[in-house]
Amino acid sequence: MRPFEYIRPASVTEAVGVLSERGDDAFVLGGGSAAVVMLRLGVVRPECVVDLGGVEEMRGLRWNGGLHIGALASIRSLELDEGVRAAYPLLAEAASQVANVRVRNVATVGGAVAYGEPQTDTPTALTASGAVVRITGVSGERSVPIDGFYVGPYETVLEQGEIVSGIDVPEPPPHTGGCHIKFTVGSPENKPVANASALVTVDPSSGACVAARVVMGAAGPVPVVANAADALLGGEPSPERIKDVAEAAAAEADPMEDLRGPEWYKRRILRIVVERALTCALQRART
Ligand SMILES: Cc1cc2nc3c(=O)[nH]c(=O)nc-3n(C[C@H](O)[C@H](O)[C@H](O)COP(=O)(O)OP(=O)(O)OC[C@H]3O[C@@H](n4cnc5c(N)ncnc54)[C@H](O)[C@@H]3O)c2cc1C
Repeated sequence: MRPFEYIRPASVTEAVGVLSERGDDAFVLGGGSAAVVMLRLGVVRPECVVDLGGVEEMRGLRWNGGLHIGALASIRSLELDEGVRAAYPLLAEAASQVANVRVRNVATVGGAVAYGEPQTDTPTALTASGAVVRITGVSGERSVPIDGFYVGPYETVLEQGEIVSGIDVPEPPPHTGGCHIKFTVGSPENKPVANASALVTVDPSSGACVAARVVMGAAGPVPVVANAADALLGGEPSPERIKDVAEAAAAEADPMEDLRGPEWYKRRILRIVVERALTCALQRART
């Protein structure tokens, strides 16, 4: 590994100050689960590494009418927090399917979002949940809905010197159910071949579906929001309707052939994970 200067700022202001001053020479370290591998392999060769780990104000989960996730909150904390499990079970479920406990303990939610890797679980669930990404730079803070945050694989709207400082998630309305389904080959710890997050709200008196959001991961260069989910609105979705929606959602995806399989195979898996996620989310919304 090429030697580099190591800087550990104590505040967001200090962190973005250093990043803006050092420009292309600087590289951000979150939990380090991917960044350390990139440094070791020489994928990135920065002059200085800015470790966000000392920025206390970006730690933890806070309740502010919705949920504020500090960028440094670990994926494990999202999985285990009792409040998240009760009010945002979709997020806890997706977090619990990331890699293994060792990775979940070090990887941060901010790092998972900023990395922009298509084969991930947390961004899929955050997109289904309508999350908003807080971005901080020297000129201040701005907020970007997560479905407009990704530009391409490993590419986001972050400008040079900006960091993800937190993520806000609105509280789901009553009678909402969520489900995240991840499909892997080999070990369940592997990155997903494909995944789907579904979040649906039902009218308890009629059973009609009044809101439905389906997001597919590893389904294209960025998380794919399925327009097909709109066909669930306005009635009690039958298994046949769910099947049709899953078929249409998979057709909207743009999966890339890679080591995990060819495009046609991933599309088939997407159809299955969407159908299962929707069926399960509807069941949960009704109970
Ligand atoms: C073996 C293994 C298996 C995995 N399997 C899965 C899986 O199945 N599903 C899944 O969802 N994830 C999985 N992950 C996790 C995922 O791939 C990333 O490693 C993780 O989400 C990155 O989080 P981090 O905090 O460690 O970020 P880091 O590794 O520190 O950083 C990743 C990238 O984001 C940038 N960055 C980090 N934090 C910020 C910030 N706050 N603002 C701006 N830029 C930032 C860094 O510069 C770097 O480019 C796996 C990881 C490993 C190592």
